[in-house]
Amino acid sequence: MANGGQKVVLITGCSSGIGLRIAVTLAKDEKKRYHVIATMRDLKKKDKLVEAAGEAYGKTLMLLPLDVCSDESVKQCIDNVKDRHIDILINNAGVGLLGPVESISIEEMKRVFETNFFGVVRMIKEVMPDMKKRRSGHIVVMSSVMGLQGVVFNDVYTASKFAMEGFCESMAVQLMKFNIRLSMIEPGPVHTEFETKMMEDVAKMEYPGVDADTIRYFKDVYLPSSIDIFEAMGQTPEDIAKCTKKVIE
Ligand code: NDP
Repeated sequence: MANGGQKVVLITGCSSGIGLRIAVTLAKDEKKRYHVIATMRDLKKKDKLVEAAGEAYGKTLMLLPLDVCSDESVKQCIDNVKDRHIDILINNAGVGLLGPVESISIEEMKRVFETNFFGVVRMIKEVMPDMKKRRSGHIVVMSSVMGLQGVVFNDVYTASKFAMEGFCESMAVQLMKFNIRLSMIEPGPVHTEFETKMMEDVAKMEYPGVDADTIRYFKDVYLPSSIDIFEAMGQTPEDIAKCTKKVIE
């Protein structure tokens, strides 16, 4: 707990989208229940967050650099806040990857796993000892509906979220006896830079060695219907932030 009995919440990937909105929502909590440590890998991207946080910046919200793909960065970040103890860790940072496996290098696939899977594992490993010692804590993981169901040409992203789901389900059982909760949030489509990037990826997509039926299915059925779903049912980062707040309350 921070001074004043606030819960210390560390959030990964706060430069944009869902992470930014969770950080701002918690920092502006009407009862001031949270001391938010908003992290991002490049602090040069802080302006949007600082602006959205307004007066909360420097009071209930502070900033730290954190790249979830780097052992050193994770260790340094957690060391920086150790005296405060992290009550709630929100693993939000993530990257997408759309395209046929035939056109994606193993290196690109590893980058997705390094962020979406090992990034979460690294963070949990680093906060777990202190949470266990204090027999208290809550770890939240931003998964996706694609952590539950496979989707065409999202093979690697889906696999990274499935892997994370499996890891967390298994860890949850072990953490329970230390009074540490582990929650997963599985959003459907959310309007963020993720969506913009996905459409850019689609525009550049190549289909070497992919059969004509799969390409036709992707272009004529999957893509138009997923755009429809985004338009009709896409949630906002605010929706996911409110949901996250409910999960940790
Ligand atoms: P954004 O692209 O807007 O945000 C992703 C965030 O993750 C950015 O702040 C990005 O930082 C950060 N990030 C990426 N790599 C790293 C890293 N190595 N270390 C630290 N931070 C990193 O997307 P969203 O807000 O939409 O995505 C947030 C989470 O929600 C992801 O885990 C995603 O899988 C999940 N999700 C998103 C959905 C959607 O439709 N948008 C649906 C379901 C789940 P930087 O600016 O430096 O790149």
